[in-house]
Amino acid sequence: MAQLIDGKAVAREIREQVRNEAAEFHARHGRAPGLATVLVGSDPASATYVRSKRRACAEVGIASFPFELPEETTMRELLGLVDELNRREDVHGILVQLPLPSHLSAQTVIAALDPRKDVDGLHPVNQGKLLQGVPGLRPCTPLGVMELLARTGVPLAGAPAVVVGRSTLVGKPTALLLLECHATVTLCHSRTRDLASVVRSAEVLVVAAGRPGLVRGDWVRTGAVVIDVGINRLPSGELIGDVDFHTASARAAWITPVPGGVGPMTVAMLLRNTVQAARWIVEGQA
Ligand code: NDP
Repeated sequence: MAQLIDGKAVAREIREQVRNEAAEFHARHGRAPGLATVLVGSDPASATYVRSKRRACAEVGIASFPFELPEETTMRELLGLVDELNRREDVHGILVQLPLPSHLSAQTVIAALDPRKDVDGLHPVNQGKLLQGVPGLRPCTPLGVMELLARTGVPLAGAPAVVVGRSTLVGKPTALLLLECHATVTLCHSRTRDLASVVRSAEVLVVAAGRPGLVRGDWVRTGAVVIDVGINRLPSGELIGDVDFHTASARAAWITPVPGGVGPMTVAMLLRNTVQAARWIVEGQA
């Protein structure tokens, strides 16, 4: 039976570390690290996510600058706000909550961010740095995945690792981070032939497909580490992952639950990125 990787507990530990680092930053520079969060429109899920990020900032001593713009905000207005936030000295991180309303281009807005303040790690400069393996801000969910993997103590160097899902937000950057740790990485997607047999080769399996129960227990290699990024809400209201938890946990050595696995890590890594960005901006480097 697999051991559970408790994302809630790891996230709590990281928040505690961030709280200390934010206090040190404050003591050295006379101001807290600051995160601006921009929410456009009234999508209820986005509003919930952004509020939980603001609350988390307050808990660890990061100054939070909330901006809520109406649905009909124009590209020009949004870029105007980004420009203002790029210039502000008390703002070290800028998070534009996605998805944006359909008349706004997320790609254009992200490209307009000062890459040093791009705490979501989505700016082309930061993605380029990730590809080159040089220091930069990395996307939060993939960082959370890597932190959970590190907590298992399972060596990644040389290990066959399979990532299911190739999104810019999760799958691709996770594959690159695994590669940085010298895993032998296979990146799968909806056109992958015989996904089951590729998944069976994985000692380290990360699934981010957004397909409830896609990976069945009998696809999981005995003794594998399984990180389930998927969050799917069933009509009953229940949240489930992309991996069939019960059958997979009978074979895996380690597995994340959903909820309580990767989910809490994403916000924790956003907080860590914000303090990192503040340090790099004020103290130099990266
Ligand atoms: P996307 O929809 O952007 O990407 C899904 C990826 O999965 C695509 O690359 C797609 O392939 C691939 N895929 C879809 N169906 C299959 C299939 N049947 N077989 C193999 N590959 C498949 O999703 P995200 O990456 O943004 O998110 C993935 C999941 O992670 C979602 O459930 C989301 O809610 C969750 N998530 C959780 C977070 C957290 O904090 N825990 C944060 C972000 C996301 P193709 O490219 O060919 O279409």
